[in-house]
Amino acid sequence: MSETTLEIKNLHVSIEGNEILKGINLTIKSGEFHAVMGPNGTGKSTLASAIMGHPKFEITEGSVHLNGEDVLEMEVDERARAGLFLAMQYPSEISGVTTSDFLRSSINARREEGNEISLMKFIKEMDSTLDELEIDQNMAQRYLNEGFSGGEKKRNEILQLMMLKPEIAILDEIDSGLDIDALKIVADGVNKIREEENLGCLIITHYQRLLNYITPDYVHVIMQGRIVKSGGPELAQQLEAEGYEWIKEELGIEDVTVGQEA
Ligand code: ADP
Ligand code: MG
Repeated sequence: MSETTLEIKNLHVSIEGNEILKGINLTIKSGEFHAVMGPNGTGKSTLASAIMGHPKFEITEGSVHLNGEDVLEMEVDERARAGLFLAMQYPSEISGVTTSDFLRSSINARREEGNEISLMKFIKEMDSTLDELEIDQNMAQRYLNEGFSGGEKKRNEILQLMMLKPEIAILDEIDSGLDIDALKIVADGVNKIREEENLGCLIITHYQRLLNYITPDYVHVIMQGRIVKSGGPELAQQLEAEGYEWIKEELGIEDVTVGQEA
């Protein structure tokens, strides 16, 4: 099985001149699950979007490398082809492109020309993955995310994850808007890829709840655009029990958010 390393060093990111991330350091290897936790507005989604190349986010300092290759020099589609995947907190709707067509072209984009997945194989894999995620088969023929409920969008992101089998996935709040049954289904899907494909993962969550079903190897707390604490899964348990206040006290800060101060 291939070994992949995503190395984020001293990453500073600004939006419209406002510095949101202030020096993030994080290394994720194949098979490792890193949870990034933190209150709202601390820069979690900014981290995900910046790694994937959202044009709104300006990298002012630092580096991101995938197996030594400069990710920040890659176009957005190149990042996906290199094996990075982002499940977005707010997936966008793409009218005119069915979920099925989108999946198939995404899979083929990662393959050599002439080595495209056969239609038969694709349909077989898609059908079984839809079943595993308890997604209605009809959804595959609907336009991507258009009119999907919040929960359907989240399942659809995990459908993409399971079919694209990336090297490193960034999952941004995949638990938001899911009831407990849907959460378990989504977690089962992620855990399956974790085992079968030796996935490396950055799992962003506000709540500890998700981490009861997807156990992280490492937990990082982000505040004011920096990782202020790292530990093992027990850190997530502690946050569940005690909240974030004690960390704020330790750091002597009142406001955890970013972008407001001068
Ligand atoms: P989190 O995901 O931790 O809740 P975000 O990374 O979404 O936090 O946001 C961090 C800060 O960046 C917030 O102050 C937010 O208002 C700001 N921000 C995020 N996205 C944008 C954007 N597209 N335009 C302007 N400001 C943004
Ligand atoms: Mg967010």
